[in-house]
Amino acid sequence: MFIEVVGNSGSKNAESRLVCMKLGTRVLIDAGSAALIPEEELDTVDLVLLTHAHLDHILDLGFILDSMVSRRTRPLVVTGSEACLNIVKTHYMNGLLWPDFSKIQIEGRPILEYRILSDEVWTDLPGGVECMAVPVNHPAGARGFLFRYQGKLIVYSGDTGPTDKIWKLAGNFGKPVAVVIEVSFPDSKRNISMTSDHLCPSLAADELKKLGAGDASVFVFHMKPWFAGEIQKELNLPGRSVSLLKPGSRIEFS
Ligand SMILES: [Zn+2]
Ligand SMILES: [Zn+2]
Repeated sequence: MFIEVVGNSGSKNAESRLVCMKLGTRVLIDAGSAALIPEEELDTVDLVLLTHAHLDHILDLGFILDSMVSRRTRPLVVTGSEACLNIVKTHYMNGLLWPDFSKIQIEGRPILEYRILSDEVWTDLPGGVECMAVPVNHPAGARGFLFRYQGKLIVYSGDTGPTDKIWKLAGNFGKPVAVVIEVSFPDSKRNISMTSDHLCPSLAADELKKLGAGDASVFVFHMKPWFAGEIQKELNLPGRSVSLLKPGSRIEFS
């Protein structure tokens, strides 16, 4: 089982792709750049797990559904917090900005099915990974996730400013093998990080201290692309292996 990066960026320009990761072959975490996934790979996806409803995480959801209407009969399940799903329904796939695919039926079944994800309980995902959604410090119904597969734990922060619960809960389930953490801005923009509920390298270092000792590899994503170089220079966490995720990067549950 693995997480493979389709898109790693918290904004968009000619060189960057919005946040989207494959969790095995049947689940996507966010769908910012999901339309770039080849058709034959998209066809194995049963579920999209949304961290929250900001545009950089949901943009391509409407486009992959559009492409699926002509190719498949089983629904694409979109799951996330109730607040997140309500934003997607009300402000995106509302029949105005984009079609309401939950009302479009193929062979008697809607092509889009929304499913609310409960907080702080383990939920089985297609492919055998368990997921625990944890509220984090960010708007639009934001959740971070703990993923567990064959006893191996990965912490996925989603978008967040400084937060506590996800680190505390992670500690209940053993030492994670990997932490995927957002860093959106360089330290020179620490104030903007705080006011926008994001992290910069020094804030991310403080978050990782909350995990306690351990040898989890740290993977950073959600850089604003114009700051990626500056962020990379500042990412120096003593005692931890840190890498910047990019499209094609892969994290194994091992
Ligand atoms: Zn974002
Ligand atoms: Zn966000």
